[in-house]
Amino acid sequence: MSLATNERYRMFIGGELVESTSGEYRETIDPATEEPIAEFAAGTSEDVDRAVAAARDALPEWQAKTPTERGEVVQRLADVVRENAESLAEVETRDQGKPLSDSRGAVEGLAQTLEYYAGAAGKLEGKSIPTGGEEVDFTVREPYGVSAQIIPWNAPLNLMGQGTAPALVAGNTVVIKPAPTTPLSAVHLAELFEDAGVPDGVVNVVTGGTEPGAALSGHEDVDTVSFTGSVQTGAAVMESAAANITPVTLELGGKNPAVVLPDADLEEAADAIALGIFMNTGQICAAADRAIVHEDVYDEFLDLIVERAEAYELGDGIDDPDMGPLNYEAHFEKVMDYIDLGVEEGATIETGGEALDREGYFVEPTVFSDVETDMRIAQEEIFGPVLCVIPFSERREAIDIANDVEMGLTGGVFSNDVRAALNTAEQIEAGSIYVNQWFGGPIGAPFGGFKKSGIGREMGMEAFDSYLQTKNICVNLTER
Ligand code: NAD
Repeated sequence: MSLATNERYRMFIGGELVESTSGEYRETIDPATEEPIAEFAAGTSEDVDRAVAAARDALPEWQAKTPTERGEVVQRLADVVRENAESLAEVETRDQGKPLSDSRGAVEGLAQTLEYYAGAAGKLEGKSIPTGGEEVDFTVREPYGVSAQIIPWNAPLNLMGQGTAPALVAGNTVVIKPAPTTPLSAVHLAELFEDAGVPDGVVNVVTGGTEPGAALSGHEDVDTVSFTGSVQTGAAVMESAAANITPVTLELGGKNPAVVLPDADLEEAADAIALGIFMNTGQICAAADRAIVHEDVYDEFLDLIVERAEAYELGDGIDDPDMGPLNYEAHFEKVMDYIDLGVEEGATIETGGEALDREGYFVEPTVFSDVETDMRIAQEEIFGPVLCVIPFSERREAIDIANDVEMGLTGGVFSNDVRAALNTAEQIEAGSIYVNQWFGGPIGAPFGGFKKSGIGREMGMEAFDSYLQTKNICVNLTER
C-alpha cells in the first residue's frame, strides 16, 4: 500500500470500494506544495444511506461474536496497522501536512489505542444492585447499534482510532466520515480493516464534504453520533441529532490556559508550552493557546519562549522538519487574519507573524505579548501556531483569566509548589489538566471538554459510555 499520486480513491461500503452515487470526485491538496495529490469520491446523502444500511445489516453477525472474538479482531487490526506503519504515516503527512515523525507517532498511537480497547473487550461489566427483597436486580451494558464517527482534519488517524476502537469492541458497527481535506488515511485504514478480518459492513467510510456529515448526524437509522470538530459544527450536529433523539458525544474546540506561577522552572515551562502550541502547527484542540504568566517572571518567560519559537525549522512534512504547513488555504487565511487582528487589538508580536515566502500554507511560530483577556485573539480558537502571553499578579487573577473563555478542554499549571499547583489545577475549568508538562496522560486517561468544549469523554474506559447503554433487569424470585 502506498500513495499513488493522482490516484482516485473510492469509498468503502459493505466491504467494497465503491464510487459515489454522484459519480463525482474532489481533489485533496498537499498543503506543503499546494499541488493536488489525489482525488476522492464526493459522497452524498444517498451514499450515507447505503453505508448506514450496510452497518445495520452487519450488526447481527458482529453482535453474535463474543467480546473476546471482537477484541481479537481489533487486536489484529493493531498488528496490521503496525505492519503498514510507514505507508500510513506517509499518507497522513502528505494529506495533512504534519512532520513525518509526528505521523509515525500517530500511527503507533493508533495501534496502542486499538490494543488498549482490544484488551478491554472482556471487561465491560454491569453491576448487581441490592434489593433487600425477593428479587435479583442487575444491569447489562448493550451496544447502541450503528455508530457514526465524524472526524476533523487535524489528527485523522488518531481520532478515527479513539472512536472506532471502543465502538467496535462494544459491539457497534461504524460509519466513518473523514474531513474533506484529509480523507486518504481513512480510506487506507479501511483497506486494512479488510486485511484484519473485520467482517463486511462492520466498518464503512464515506468521504466527502458537509453533505454526508450532515446526512449522517441526522440519519434516523444511526444510533449514536461521535463528532470531533469545531464548536459551531458541533452545535449543528447536536441539532440534527435531536430530531431522532440520537445521543451525541462531542469533542470540540479549546482556548486552553497554561498558568505559569512565579516559582516555576521556566525552562521546563517554556519547553512544554512551545510543544503545546507549536506541535502540529498549533492545530490541536488541546493546544497551549494562552500562557498566563506571573509578572515577576513574565520578561524572562518571553525571552525563553521566543528563543524556542525561533528555533523551529519549517518545511514539507515529508522531509520531517520541526513544523509543517497549515492544512488548507482557507484555514491559512483565517490564521493570518487572526494575526492581523491581534496587532489591531494592540497586542505586540514578539516573534513570527509572517507567512513563509514559498508555496504551501506555512506560518511562522508566532508569540503575542501584551495580550488582554478580552481581546478576540485571547477568546477565540485560532488553531494555528499563535501563542498569546498574558501577565498576572495574583493567583486568583490567573485563575479568573484561565476560566474567562467559553471553552474548557485542557489547561496547565507550572509550579514547584505542590499545593499551589494542585489548588490551581482544581480551579481551572477544563476536562484535562497538565502539571509541569503539556499533553500528559496515558491512553487510559479520559479526555473531553467542560463548557462548550464538548459532551462525553473519549479514551480510557469512560469512552465506553458513548458506545454502551445500560439495561436494568429485575427478576422476581418469589415462590408461589
Ligand atoms: P469542522 O467542525 O469544520 O468539521 C469536522 C467534521 O465535520 C468534518 O468531517 C466535516 O466535514 C464535518 N461537517 C461539516 N459540517 C457538518 C455538518 N453540518 N454536520 C455534520 N458534519 C459536518 O472542524 P474542523 O475544522 O475539521 O476541525 C477543527 C476543530 O476540531 C477545532 O475546533 C478543534 O479544536 C476541534 N478538535 C477537537 C478535538 C477534541 O478531541 N476535543 C480533537 C481534534 C479537533
